[in-house]
Amino acid sequence: MVTSTENSLSPALLPQVNGRYSFGAPLSSLTWFQAGGPAFVLYKPDSSDDLQHFLQEKSAEIPYFILGAGSNVLVRDGGYNGVVIKLGRSFSQISMENGELVAGAAALDRTVAMFALQHQLSGIEFLVTIPGSIGGAVAMNAGCYGVEIKDVLSWVEIVDSKGNLRKLLPGDLHMTYRKAILPEGSIVVRAAFKVATGNASEIQQTIQKYLDFREESQPMKGRTGGSTFKNPTNAKAWELIDKAGCRGLIIGAAQMSEKHCNFMLNTGGATADELERLGELVRQRVKENSNLELEWEIIRVGKKVEVV
Ligand SMILES: Cc1cc2nc3c(=O)[nH]c(=O)nc-3n(C[C@H](O)[C@H](O)[C@H](O)COP(=O)(O)OP(=O)(O)OC[C@H]3O[C@@H](n4cnc5c(N)ncnc54)[C@H](O)[C@@H]3O)c2cc1C
Repeated sequence: MVTSTENSLSPALLPQVNGRYSFGAPLSSLTWFQAGGPAFVLYKPDSSDDLQHFLQEKSAEIPYFILGAGSNVLVRDGGYNGVVIKLGRSFSQISMENGELVAGAAALDRTVAMFALQHQLSGIEFLVTIPGSIGGAVAMNAGCYGVEIKDVLSWVEIVDSKGNLRKLLPGDLHMTYRKAILPEGSIVVRAAFKVATGNASEIQQTIQKYLDFREESQPMKGRTGGSTFKNPTNAKAWELIDKAGCRGLIIGAAQMSEKHCNFMLNTGGATADELERLGELVRQRVKENSNLELEWEIIRVGKKVEVV
């Protein structure tokens, strides 16, 4: 039996919005892990104005969490007792403005990379293999193949926790490896990237090289969150995990991938608890084996449930 002790919030505390509220919405289908519990309410703003209004009027008692494409998030089995905000189509426009590529936060990284290819623009080819959204990419300072968001970011537009629309420069975000420091509670709504005119076939070749490499080395189609742990300074998380004998390690239906052992997989019907316990077991074994503490890269959110 699963028990949860947290009180529910009252819908009466929520402001009137133009967007949509869905009470008790399942979140598992919105994350790559396909595990975990529901949101008290899922809110899909219909515009930046709607989102601003929501944040201006929302009761301070109501916590909120912004979910992107869910490719780096594990929602715990007890779900999220607050508002999960999910940006939709009105936040996914991509355009060129003053020589910069500007993308809405809900645009998928891959779509943005393909837009750049169509317009013969180079510099952001790496985005093609990252399965998240632009908002998540900024928040995580996503990167691969030697490039990360901080190298190509020109500016971001955020809605802060008070509902103000603000433009920030990369220096304001103090971006480091898989981390950006956004003002507390703020939501990225647009981001602009530095791109340069390039040669279409070279851009295409680079994209294909990255895609092929991914396919060979990582379980890209699995129910996963990508790298489970960050690489410690001067070490590779996957090597430490391998050395600690955790490649393929299983708890329930959760498994460390055989193909890339820093990827954790839901092999079918895993609970978030199984996935999280597996991650913690790996951390413990790596600590015993290498005396290094692995830091979670996966963002874990929501309430653990007690299984009795
Ligand atoms: C198969 C696979 C491969 C991956 N490979 C890579 C890789 O090579 N490099 C890499 O860096 N990552 C990789 N990842 C991880 C993941 O794709 C990235 O971290 C991605 O940037 C997350 O984006 P998302 O939209 O899915 O964000 P989510 O997973 O939904 O959220 C991640 C974090 O970003 C925050 N966030 C999301 N949207 C916003 C917003 N609009 N404003 C403010 N905060 C926001 C969330 O609150 C959360 O804290 C991989 C994941 C998978 C499943």
